[in-house]
Amino acid sequence: MTPPNAPTLTPSDIARIALKRLAELGLPPTPENYTKFYNAIAAIKSPTDKSDEELKSAYQVLFRVSDVLDGMAETSDMLLADLTRGGEVMSQSLDVIRGTTDRKRLEEVLNELIESTDSVCQTVTASHDDLKEMKQAIEKIQTDLAINRKTLEQDPLTGALNRQGLEHMLSKEVKRARRASHPLSVAILDLDEFKQVNDRHGHLVGDKVLVHFASVLKAVLRESDTLVRYGGEEFLLLLPETTGDGARFLIDRLRQVNAKTPFFHQASHIDIRFSTGAAQLKPEENGHAMLIRADEAMYRAKHAGRDQVVFAE
Ligand code: GH3
Ligand code: MG
Ligand code: MG
Repeated sequence: MTPPNAPTLTPSDIARIALKRLAELGLPPTPENYTKFYNAIAAIKSPTDKSDEELKSAYQVLFRVSDVLDGMAETSDMLLADLTRGGEVMSQSLDVIRGTTDRKRLEEVLNELIESTDSVCQTVTASHDDLKEMKQAIEKIQTDLAINRKTLEQDPLTGALNRQGLEHMLSKEVKRARRASHPLSVAILDLDEFKQVNDRHGHLVGDKVLVHFASVLKAVLRESDTLVRYGGEEFLLLLPETTGDGARFLIDRLRQVNAKTPFFHQASHIDIRFSTGAAQLKPEENGHAMLIRADEAMYRAKHAGRDQVVFAE
């Protein structure tokens, strides 16, 4: 059994799903059964479990943002002070010009004016250079942030999106589907008896099987579809502009392609089978509710004998 792993489940969500699943499987809700299911569902790998390297580089970018912001505040403070001072001098000089007919005094004031406009001009030029530098620093930070975000949202083994990435993508796609009145579907695939692959061939081979399966998935998906590593041996497909029927077609195709591209290990192939639960977004539900329905459907597929797809009602 695999936990459903819906993102950001609260304890009461988990309790509800655990009870529902017990009822579905016809198991009595004894404390032992309940605890077992609760723990299985709650055993979600935190999406914020990040390697030290990733965190370090995220922090480096943050420090640079902070430096640039400090510099910007300093430059704009200086610019404001200089411009205010220059403005005051100029307005005093203009007052004098208006009120005097003395030629010598006029000449003096004109010279003062020229000096203060010169100084303002220099300040603006200097600030302009500073601002140009800052603009470049900010552009570099934006690029780094995008790269950081990409690594933080990617599963390092398969290159698929991780759960954190799914959070972003799900809310984006749900909004888009609503706005355009387009269908949105999701499929959750859990590899069957995957523990046996590890037990027979070792964890490293298990990892290679996961990479292989992910590449089969990528080959079948459209550009607009999203592949997520949803759990250890669980994948999620987010399918924009796809109805339940479209999802069924895709899973069928995936089954064919998977059968035709076996994974070879030491001259014999390792059979990969999977159980799928699929759901189409309902008008009144949010993205997470759709995922929970797909996950429950996946459990029904497991319960009905594995290697099949079940659609949520
Ligand atoms: P089921 O058909 O009920 O899904 O059986 P299963 O054996 O696939 O399910 P179970 O939840 O009992 O075990 C999942 C296994 O997946 C256990 C674990 O060894 C394996 N697994 C999970 N993540 C990884 C991974 O990153 N690499 C490898 N090699 N194995 C993994
Ligand atoms: Mg599983
Ligand atoms: Mg499995």
